[in-house]
Amino acid sequence: MQIDILTLFPSMFDGPLTESMLKRAQEKGLLTVRLHDIRDHATDKHRTVDDTPYGGGGGMVMMPEPLVAAVEGVRGADETAPVILLTPQGRVFTQQVARELAAHPRLILVCGRYEGVDERVRQAVITDEISIGDFVLTGGELAAMVIVDAVARLIPGMLGARWGAEEDSHAMGLIEYPHYTRPPVFREMAVPDVLLSGDHGAVEAWRRREAIRRTWQRRPDMLLSVELGGAERWFLADLAEADAPLRG
Ligand code: SAM
Repeated sequence: MQIDILTLFPSMFDGPLTESMLKRAQEKGLLTVRLHDIRDHATDKHRTVDDTPYGGGGGMVMMPEPLVAAVEGVRGADETAPVILLTPQGRVFTQQVARELAAHPRLILVCGRYEGVDERVRQAVITDEISIGDFVLTGGELAAMVIVDAVARLIPGMLGARWGAEEDSHAMGLIEYPHYTRPPVFREMAVPDVLLSGDHGAVEAWRRREAIRRTWQRRPDMLLSVELGGAERWFLADLAEADAPLRG
């Protein structure tokens, strides 16, 4: 997969792209990330990329000419790659959106700064707009890093066979079950017996139940859209009944 990122601050990506899994993905040839400095497409000697807003008001706006020239230069003849503007006004990024993006061979991410981009950039070249949450960052770079990270771990071959992404929180519509490692007892807190039993069927059943329990406790809204088996629905009904006095 290839991800092109257009930014005014390419060096912000140095850390995240040169460590751990994203580094290995690039070394293995599973992921290519190309950084493009929008300022390289400015046309004046000061490399200006922003200007004051028409109508007055504070802040600066990213000018259309350098940004559109940057997108068109990077995109080239390939008009199939989504051109995604990072913006708090976009659709909210979720695991499902990450899966959708991971299915594309190429993505182009556009990082805004200041008050954002001139509206005509959207009309000229943007095909999708994504927000990483209902808050406002100073720039799109951190949002782009979040997207690269979440999408990259879904590329086939990224995670080892024993470390699938299918059980992660949100992948199956549930929060993931709790994890334990050695020692078996830490500060008088013991690992649940079933995890030490060697009975894989029992471990799987426990994990599924604990995922349902945790989702009920932390994100009951998610249970509205997850498919549960008959016994699982009974388990959930028991949880709800036990909590009924607490929830009022
Ligand atoms: N004035 C803009 C608005 O209210 O929609 C916010 C501009 S913000 C200060 C500067 C840039 O940060 C945006 O153009 C966008 O690229 C990025 N940004 C801020 N919050 C974001 C979020 N929640 N998700 C994705 N990108 C975000």
